[in-house]
Amino acid sequence: MSSFSKKIISWQKINGRNNLPWQTKSPYHVWISEIMLQQTQVKTVIPYFHKFINSFPSVRFLAKSNLDDVLAHWSGLGYYNRAKNIYLSSKIILEKHNGSIPDNYHELLDLPGIGESTAGAIMSLAFDKSGVILDGNVKRVLLRNSGNKSPVNLSKTQKDLKKFATELLPKENFNSYSQGIMDLGSLICTPTNPECGKCPVKRKCVSFDLGLQNVIPFKKSKNQIKEKSIKWILISSKDKVLLKRNDTKGIWQNLWLFPNENNFNQKKLSFLEKKETLPSMTHNLSHRKLSISIEKYFLKDKDKLSIDRRGYIWVNKTESVKMGVPKPVKTILENHL
Ligand code: SF4
Repeated sequence: MSSFSKKIISWQKINGRNNLPWQTKSPYHVWISEIMLQQTQVKTVIPYFHKFINSFPSVRFLAKSNLDDVLAHWSGLGYYNRAKNIYLSSKIILEKHNGSIPDNYHELLDLPGIGESTAGAIMSLAFDKSGVILDGNVKRVLLRNSGNKSPVNLSKTQKDLKKFATELLPKENFNSYSQGIMDLGSLICTPTNPECGKCPVKRKCVSFDLGLQNVIPFKKSKNQIKEKSIKWILISSKDKVLLKRNDTKGIWQNLWLFPNENNFNQKKLSFLEKKETLPSMTHNLSHRKLSISIEKYFLKDKDKLSIDRRGYIWVNKTESVKMGVPKPVKTILENHL
């Protein structure tokens, strides 16, 4: 076993995070948490995880639910494809694996939404078997420790990292090692101002030795973030508001949004009483900045508006909480309904 992994394992047992809500030895809990933790921080995930497990306590329960319900539990967490993949995977796990999360790396990789790092995480954290995790925290620790200045977003760097991470794997205690290296990245080897004095692997850390902690990980400049403007139409009638299911491909596919100008032409809009223009808002995604403007309309009798019932729904505030809606829609509903 490498001295690196020995030190990480000993450190984790005393200083690591050992009370996270998914550290229950349930492979189902580990799987759900690992999908939620893709691109999302632990503190954000915790309340979503509790709510999700309360409503879907097992694979069987999840597979027998419906996608709308799953998306509603994901509302506000972002990257909604993850929810769709969890739902699809639960059906496969029920049919092919009798409801048990497979403890085989290749069978895990066959499930929608599970890539190499997530499969490695499930193998080690759920089954205490060998598995390489390469999330953002782990990559930072490994790059700094080895003094690797290659841009982290290059595929060659990813390949080198995988090789290095595999070489460092212990022969046992896979769970503590994987949790430990993630904890080290999250608690000590932080993106800025790492606390190297407290680090269990500082003795052989190239960045600590050469003072490169704030240079590594090196990033190639990102592509410019694109801007997109969205114009929503908020139609309210008494305590209800009209939502439309988004059937176009993209980040918000299958979620409920407000209708837009393409759904309601001027003729239809003239039939409504315009109330106000709501304050515009921006919503930042990793690759895009959305500028959102909202026109609010009022309608005395909602049944007078001709809509395709299959794609639209009238909901009040309580009902809207149970819908799968993205964060900006949730914010608008909370503030203007
Ligand atoms: S010594 Fe510092 S830079 Fe090196 S791995 Fe530890 S915390 Fe990170």
